[in-house]
Amino acid sequence: MKVWKTLEQKHPESEILKGVLDEADAVVVGIGAGMSAADGFTYIGERFNSNFPDFIEKYKWLDMLQASLYKFSTWEEYWAFQSRFIKLNYLDQPAGEAYIALKEMIEKKPYYVITTNADNAFYAAGYNMDKVLYYQGEYVRLQCSDFCHDKTYRDDDLILEMVEKQVDMKIPSELVPHCPECGAPMEKNKRTAEKGMVEDDAFNAQRDDYNAFLKAHDSDKVIYLEIGVGHTTPQFIKHPFWRQTRQNENALFVTMNQKSYRIPEAIKPQTVFLTDDIKETILNAHNN
Ligand SMILES: [Zn+2]
Repeated sequence: MKVWKTLEQKHPESEILKGVLDEADAVVVGIGAGMSAADGFTYIGERFNSNFPDFIEKYKWLDMLQASLYKFSTWEEYWAFQSRFIKLNYLDQPAGEAYIALKEMIEKKPYYVITTNADNAFYAAGYNMDKVLYYQGEYVRLQCSDFCHDKTYRDDDLILEMVEKQVDMKIPSELVPHCPECGAPMEKNKRTAEKGMVEDDAFNAQRDDYNAFLKAHDSDKVIYLEIGVGHTTPQFIKHPFWRQTRQNENALFVTMNQKSYRIPEAIKPQTVFLTDDIKETILNAHNN
């Protein structure tokens, strides 16, 4: 591609990443679970086993994703699990090195981030949250389980109290939060395939802002940089990035993933595959 000088020669992946970011007029970054995993926030192994040994013994779960989607038969047990999950993956989540390095690279340009993650990685790493669209909700927020109204809530002290006071994988019944409008139990604000999620005013305003950013840069020399995005919900990041790339000959689609996913023929000439370790590539690009 003539537009991108970096791509005229062979370089290590970190130099390609740095080169195209330097050249771009604007950057749109899509972040999936693979980015958090690369920074150590994995849903499998020690981090999972040491925080949920009792639940794992009872349900034989293989990883935290499967666990987080489990349909518990009581709200007391649901919240016993979820409160620990939220503490681990949100309230106590430390800043990740790759997240910080990425932020320092992209913030030199007009940029926007969209993520299907619901963890605290962006806050912890000091991102400008006006520029991060959480498309699938945030673990720390609560919504009415009956979706009776479009508002979400946050009560960190309650979550911590649930962690503290649970016994035998159940929280005391009086700690189960209830909807202030209809009285139904509250659940965490996370999009699911069958129910979707409650989308409040702040979410809708941010989605509009994100779409306006895409539109403002839709013929610029722009990078759609996808990091650790799998194929479970391609409709939120992957497919829109392909569409944006296809309709703009100056655009470049950069996908960082150790697994390779099939790319439509039409955008292959505008695609760069980076398959090395995500964290190392970002840190090396940052330090170059
Ligand atoms: Zn309600």
